Amino acid sequence: RKGNVIITGASSGLGLATAKALGESGKWHIIMACRDFLKAERMARSVGIPKENYSVMHLDLASLESVRQFADNFRRSGRPLDVLVCNAAIYLPTAKLPTYTAEGFELSVGTNHLGHFLLSRLLLEDLKTSDFNSKRVIIVGSITGNTNTLAGNVPPKANLGDLRGLAGGLNGVNISPMIDGGEFDGAKAYKDSKVCNMLTMQEFHRRYHEETGITFASLYPGCIATTGLFREHIPLFRLLFPPFQKYITKGFVSEEEAGKRLAQVVSNPSLTKSGVYWSWNNNSGSFENQLSEEASDPEKAKKLWEISEKLVGLA
Ligand code: NDP
Repeated sequence: RKGNVIITGASSGLGLATAKALGESGKWHIIMACRDFLKAERMARSVGIPKENYSVMHLDLASLESVRQFADNFRRSGRPLDVLVCNAAIYLPTAKLPTYTAEGFELSVGTNHLGHFLLSRLLLEDLKTSDFNSKRVIIVGSITGNTNTLAGNVPPKANLGDLRGLAGGLNGVNISPMIDGGEFDGAKAYKDSKVCNMLTMQEFHRRYHEETGITFASLYPGCIATTGLFREHIPLFRLLFPPFQKYITKGFVSEEEAGKRLAQVVSNPSLTKSGVYWSWNNNSGSFENQLSEEASDPEKAKKLWEISEKLVGLA
C-alpha cells in the first residue's frame, strides 16, 4: 500500500514542495494539514499533485482545540498514519508587540512549538498502531536556533534561559511572552521555537524510539530565501535576502530542492536513524549535523517536555 504522511503547513513553501515531491513519486498519500483549506486545495492543484495522492484537512496550530479536532478527524478518516511531518511555522521579525494564540500563548512559540507538541503527542498513538515498515516523526529545525553556527550567531540569539516565561504560560499578562522571561522580540521568539522543535525530537527519541521503533528526526534543509516565511519582513530585506544567500553565504536552496531534501527524510531507506539532525552539503549530500549545546541539552529537553505537557493539557 501507499504510505500515509501528514504534512503541516503544506499550502506553501517547503511543505508544498515536499508534498509535490512525494505526490509525484506515486508511493504516498499526503494529508495536507492546513489552516486555509481553499488555499491548500488551490496550491495542490497548481503544482500538479495527482488528485488521488492527496487530501486536505483543516488544522490551525494556533488553537489547541483545532489540533485536538484535527487528530479526531484524522482518526475518523480510517487511514493509518505512517509519517508525521511538522513543518508549519510563523516568523514575525518586525512585530513590535506580541500577538497570541487562541489559548493565549505568544503566537510564534504557541504555533511552532506548542501546537506541534500537542499534535505529535496525540498522533503518536496512531503511529504506534500502523504496520508500516518505517514510521517516522520529522520536525523542521533551523540553523538560526543553533548558536554553534555563523547564522545562529546573528543577534538576537536563541536562548531559552531557565524557561521561566514558558512555565508562566507566555501570556504577556502577568508574565513575559518570551520563554526566557525577557522582553518581547519576534525574531528571537521564532529562533527559540525552533530550539524547542529540535529539543522535542530528541526527547521523543529518548522516550519512545526503543519502545515503538519510530524514527524521530529534525533537519535543516538550507536557506530557502524565497518562501512566505519572510512575508512579514521589510521590503528591502525581502529584495536583498535571496541574492545575499545565493552569492555571499552560498546557503541558498530552491524550494524545489529543499522539498526533495525533506522528502528524502520522509521516505529514503537510508535516512532511518533516530535522534538525528540532518543537513546537506553543497553537493546536496545529506549528513548528520551537530546541534548547539542548548539545542542538544537533555535536561533542558526534559524540562521543556514537562512544562509543555502542562500547557497543552496533557499532564
Ligand atoms: P512558509 O511561510 O512558506 O510556510 C509556512 C506554512 O506554515 C504555511 O503553509 C502556513 O500556512 C503554515 N502555517 C502558519 N501558521 C499556521 C497555523 N497557525 N496553522 C497551520 N499552518 C500554519 O515558510 P517555509 O516554507 O519557509 O517554512 C516551512 C518550515 O521551514 C518552517 O518550519 C520554517 O521554520 C522552516 N525553515 C525555513 C527556512 C527558510 O529559509 N525558509 C530555513 C529553515 C527552516 P499558509 O499557507 O496558510 O500561510
